[in-house]
Amino acid sequence: MNRPEQLALPLGPPDLAELFRRVFTRLRVKSPVVSIGARFHPFAGLRSTITLRNGAVKARVSDLLMEASPVVLEALAEILLARIFHRRPSREARECYLAYTFRPAMRVRIDAARRERGSKRLLPPRGRHHDLGEIFRAVNARQFHGQIPVCLLGWSPRTSRRILGHYDSGHGTIIISRQLDSPSVPRYVVEYVVFHEMLHIQFPVERHGHRRVVHSREFREAERKFPKYELACRQIKHLCA
Ligand SMILES: [Zn+2]
Repeated sequence: MNRPEQLALPLGPPDLAELFRRVFTRLRVKSPVVSIGARFHPFAGLRSTITLRNGAVKARVSDLLMEASPVVLEALAEILLARIFHRRPSREARECYLAYTFRPAMRVRIDAARRERGSKRLLPPRGRHHDLGEIFRAVNARQFHGQIPVCLLGWSPRTSRRILGHYDSGHGTIIISRQLDSPSVPRYVVEYVVFHEMLHIQFPVERHGHRRVVHSREFREAERKFPKYELACRQIKHLCA
């Protein structure tokens, strides 16, 4: 007998909103929620977002996960919903999601998406007060024996107080917050931020069980070799305050 509901048809992307509603019910959240919407979105990279406004939940999930199994998507839904309802996602959910996203094929797709879609808008490395190219070369010679391959460098188009530097492995780019391109910021502070991002090239992200280790013990130890380490840290705290 042909029972259509049991046919194993190649399915298109799952109904995300339905999946989020299912996970929401399972979490037994007490907060009043009037609607739950979720859809795939072509973010530059593996990024998913969720908001809760006036009882409406809206999630946007990286379209790089379009082929992920419902189990993986449910794990992500749990992680995202937990975030807005101030809960801790289960260890199973976190492990499941990370295991999927750490598969080599997935990392290749993430990097490709970043390269293709990522905003490459950067201000040139020579700023008004500090020259990132010159700083990179000096730090490379002094701290790394010149071993760090030359990468793209630039100031961020927007000033960010929270994120002073960022290394984008997809683009092989170091981006430094324009906030630091100021006469009130001593050169060794900019050097320190560039140095930190260069360490990300030397110590790529590691995976320990279900955790991504961005700043490993080795990373932190190397970081302390910066000549004015403590002074720079204090300055940065001050800048971010
Ligand atoms: Zn870092």
